[in-house]
Amino acid sequence: MLTCDQYHMPATLHEALALWRAAPEGSRLVAGATDILPWAREGRGGNVHLPAMIDLSRVADLSGYSVADGRVRLGANVAYQQFLTDETLRRHLPCMPYCAIWFADDQIREQATLAGNIVNASPAADGTPPVLALNGEIEMAGLDGDAVVRRSLPVDDFLQGPGKTALQPGEIVTAVTCDSLQGYGGSFQKVGQRRSLVISSVCAVACVKTDPGGTVFEDVRLALGGIGPVPVRLGDVEAILNGKPISQDIIAEASAIPPSRVASRTRQDYRRAVVRGFVEAAIEEALADAGAPLQAAREREKSHV
Ligand SMILES: Cc1cc2nc3c(=O)[nH]c(=O)nc-3n(C[C@H](O)[C@H](O)[C@H](O)COP(=O)(O)OP(=O)(O)OC[C@H]3O[C@@H](n4cnc5c(N)ncnc54)[C@H](O)[C@@H]3O)c2cc1C
Repeated sequence: MLTCDQYHMPATLHEALALWRAAPEGSRLVAGATDILPWAREGRGGNVHLPAMIDLSRVADLSGYSVADGRVRLGANVAYQQFLTDETLRRHLPCMPYCAIWFADDQIREQATLAGNIVNASPAADGTPPVLALNGEIEMAGLDGDAVVRRSLPVDDFLQGPGKTALQPGEIVTAVTCDSLQGYGGSFQKVGQRRSLVISSVCAVACVKTDPGGTVFEDVRLALGGIGPVPVRLGDVEAILNGKPISQDIIAEASAIPPSRVASRTRQDYRRAVVRGFVEAAIEEALADAGAPLQAAREREKSHV
């Protein structure tokens, strides 16, 4: 059970930062609480009593999103369900609906934030590989005296290992900013211990832009999760594909490289076997999503998005 001496619900970022700075050691921030509540269950964190919890869900500055200058700024309280239901987000972040549909279930998706998923810094988090592929940056804010000061880091600098981030004491994540990939096709492949409501063992994301005829790879973004302490972007694989005519052969050539990236401590052979097929499937599904007329080598599972 999770209990606390004080439960705060600030309405502004400044109020939240002031409460966070003054909070006694051991206090926690809470957004959707979908990580914190299971952690504080018998058998995980056990019975947990905290001095204070600061609930960010009503902080107006952390809600909503905006699109400007080729970037999408997602307030830290944007929850996964929005990537399925919001038409603008679906259009600008084409891999996110594919990620969201495999993420937990409707109930959890309504609560779980992308920012909380990233801050939790699990090697198996579904949200981080897509953000990496979208050139994501994590925006943070803290207080200097009474002034709110902000900074940003690319997601791969923000994540420093399992459970570790670059957040400094007193800081709160305010937003996740990503490239707008309007006109790209997206895909997300995931496998875990069972079919649904499961953390990924391996996941792969692809975003693909083609020429208007769907015959040339104009821009490919690929990333893998669950294969080591942090997700990885596959820049060298992207380089094989960018600018080349689309064919099954070049996809197979590119997909042969990723197994060497598996650096997890467990089930390495399994992950190596999965990764190659996932990268291939992700590229093919993203091409189909972009409307490119590639004939898949074999029938892929139909998307649910
Ligand atoms: C049944 C179930 C199924 C799940 N399925 C999946 C799945 O398929 N894939 C997957 O990746 N995850 C899954 N999860 C994990 C979970 O839903 C995510 O990690 C979630 O996105 C965390 O976001 P939250 O808003 O609930 O964070 P919280 O639980 O509120 O917080 C998580 C951590 O982030 C910190 N935090 C939150 N917001 C901020 C902020 N703005 N600034 C600084 N720190 C912050 C908190 O202090 C805490 O340490 C599942 C969880 C459950 C219970």
